[in-house]
Amino acid sequence: MIGVRGGTFDPIHIGHLRATQEVAEALSANGTADSSLQRIHLIPGNIPPHRPQTLASAEQRLEMVRLATQNNDLFVPDDRELQRDGASYTVDTLRSLRKDVGNECSICLIIGMDAFLSFTTWHKWKTIITLAHLVVTSRPDYTAQPLQAWAQALQTENTLDLHAQPAGKLFFVETTALSISATDIRHQQAEGRSIRYLVPDAVYDYIQQKHLYRTP
Ligand code: ATP
Repeated sequence: MIGVRGGTFDPIHIGHLRATQEVAEALSANGTADSSLQRIHLIPGNIPPHRPQTLASAEQRLEMVRLATQNNDLFVPDDRELQRDGASYTVDTLRSLRKDVGNECSICLIIGMDAFLSFTTWHKWKTIITLAHLVVTSRPDYTAQPLQAWAQALQTENTLDLHAQPAGKLFFVETTALSISATDIRHQQAEGRSIRYLVPDAVYDYIQQKHLYRTP
């Protein structure tokens, strides 16, 4: 089993990291030696030219993901979306990962509740759930809505099901509420307030060194 978490990561912060760590723990339960969680890919998204741009460059966002994950063997920075031109479609990323890991390996696509609430607007969302399980983490200020029929049909409360088949299940993980967003971090940095402890120390140092987010 592998996990995948995408994001703009402008910058990556402890909200992303802590929720992903808690998912790792939840997914590690019930795995057999063959099916256990091997790694979680953290994938910064490519922002196409016609979209509002990130403040940090793609290379800087990737470097911050590298710095944030350097002491965690389970978390792997993955630049595959930055290698592609144009929009980063999750379905393409999952196809590419599927090629790497084969058809038997479980892939868990980790998304926050905010993303889950608009999931059926995603490009080829029905294909996405044939390529991966959906693992949804809590996010402060976003409350779960009653599940639609498709989601009810896929939902499981047993991680064994995520190990038993490679894709197609929906699993919720109650994660610690950390009301942190990259937007707030960028604003605080622009206003000259401290963002220490909202991001890992190495990311904090990098942001200061590169003078990132000095303007909102
Ligand atoms: P921005 O404020 O720039 O929109 P963000 O903090 O929401 O950024 P993204 O890089 O867009 O971060 O994050 C990707 C996904 O990570 C989000 O859609 C969300 O699901 C999840 N996420 C972000 N912040 C948190 C948090 N504090 N707790 C749990 N999940 C989070």
